Amino acid sequence: MLLSITTTRRPATDLGYLLHKHPDKFQSFNLSFGRAHAYYSEVGDDRCTACLLLDVDAVGLVRGRNPDQDFLLAQYVNDRPYVASSFLSVAIAQVFGSALQGRCKDRPELVTTPIPLEVQLDVLPVRGGEAFLRAVFEPLGYAVEAVRHPLDETFPEWGDSPYFAVTLRHTLPLSEVLSHLYVLIPVFDARKHYYVGHDEMEKLLAKGEGWLARHPAKDEIARRYLGNRASLYKLALSRLVGDEEPEDDETPEKERAEERLEKPISLNDQRLGAVVAALRASGAKRVLDLGCGEGKLIRELLKDRQFEEVLGMDVSVRTMEVAARRLKLERLPDAQARRVKLMHGSLMYRDRRLDGFDAAAVVEVVEHLDPPRLRAFERVLFEFARPGTVVLTTPNREFNVTWDTLPAGAFRHADHRFEWTREEFQAWATAVASRFGYAVRFLPVGAEHPDHGPPTQLGVFTRIAHQRDAR
Ligand code: SAH
Repeated sequence: MLLSITTTRRPATDLGYLLHKHPDKFQSFNLSFGRAHAYYSEVGDDRCTACLLLDVDAVGLVRGRNPDQDFLLAQYVNDRPYVASSFLSVAIAQVFGSALQGRCKDRPELVTTPIPLEVQLDVLPVRGGEAFLRAVFEPLGYAVEAVRHPLDETFPEWGDSPYFAVTLRHTLPLSEVLSHLYVLIPVFDARKHYYVGHDEMEKLLAKGEGWLARHPAKDEIARRYLGNRASLYKLALSRLVGDEEPEDDETPEKERAEERLEKPISLNDQRLGAVVAALRASGAKRVLDLGCGEGKLIRELLKDRQFEEVLGMDVSVRTMEVAARRLKLERLPDAQARRVKLMHGSLMYRDRRLDGFDAAAVVEVVEHLDPPRLRAFERVLFEFARPGTVVLTTPNREFNVTWDTLPAGAFRHADHRFEWTREEFQAWATAVASRFGYAVRFLPVGAEHPDHGPPTQLGVFTRIAHQRDAR
């Protein structure tokens, strides 16, 4: 099975930067189900085509199985090696992982640039036929061409096969197209080759962020993607709230840059101190740390017996692994271990696991969210999770001018999508509070500059009783 991606945006060889694959190289990758090869079939300034060819080891796949399960000779003559199925999604994630996540070290501006792209899938099994194929891709704006393969070239009277050669055309950032393919290719195929569980649902939500919630066929897409497991796809659908966008994993270097900048005033410690104080004052016993990162706040909270339960959540699995290690979760005595939990999740989705907490801390997280997605975050936190208290911090952009090392207009951290002035933050917070039935007050964190204010701004939101239905 072959996936090819062509761009005609000059210089078309930029595709090499976006895919992190050099146009002159042929590269092969070992995957659990066989091998994938990445290469370019044409390389030029006007047109460049990258190919991902899967070489699925059908025999190996069957041999590895538990013989009691579904070991059938028929599986040796399966169509896996020839068709684009969920293996192709796995290969996209592994071979074009950075491109899928929208990362491009050398040419970051390319990542968000819509470019004309043509995608070809030589053999896509389509359950539901061409109508379903169009119902899935056309609402996303693709021009779709589909040619059905006959069941057998020499015996046309045998009729049509369920396989199509598909061409999709659109002008979009490459990462968006790859996310669409990652989610949608398996949707056309009846068989997923792996067990579908909660992880798969998280992947669907993560890669579907920003478009799946609005897709008219989202129910069918979620149902098929999750292998028809009713409990899972219902849960997935219930969590699709408005617009959403995944947050990329933090890279340690970026973190260090922000820490270096803020270090002279040990802002981090002052911030944690202020947040813990606000949480303590609220009387909260059960606390959420949303976007908990490497768990610095959690560690502080565990020192205080007032906090009986602390649940840390982050969208980045990698960061949470660091948190688990730093907190030495494995080695905590039982009584301590019972007080803390970490979970993977995104603030872009309604999540029932966040219900019923006394307070939530959201420390230096909002500025990582894309402004158009803030609405979803607001609803997830203030409408659905609805803790009694929310303690939220974010940088004060006005203060940045006092740091010589930070170029004018730059943000403190490469992943910040914005940084608010005091006025902007307070306007946002006040509007959110009134929409959802909270009162909000503001506190400065760190040494205040007479003109530019404090380096960090903190808002404490308190739920107003009996105003549960406010929006
Ligand atoms: N609160 C921590 C980390 C701040 S960095 C601290 O103060 O040290 C921002 C964190 O927000 C990162 O760990 C990032 O992975 C997380 N994040 C970004 N977008 C998110 C989302 N949509 N849902 C949950 N966490 C998110």
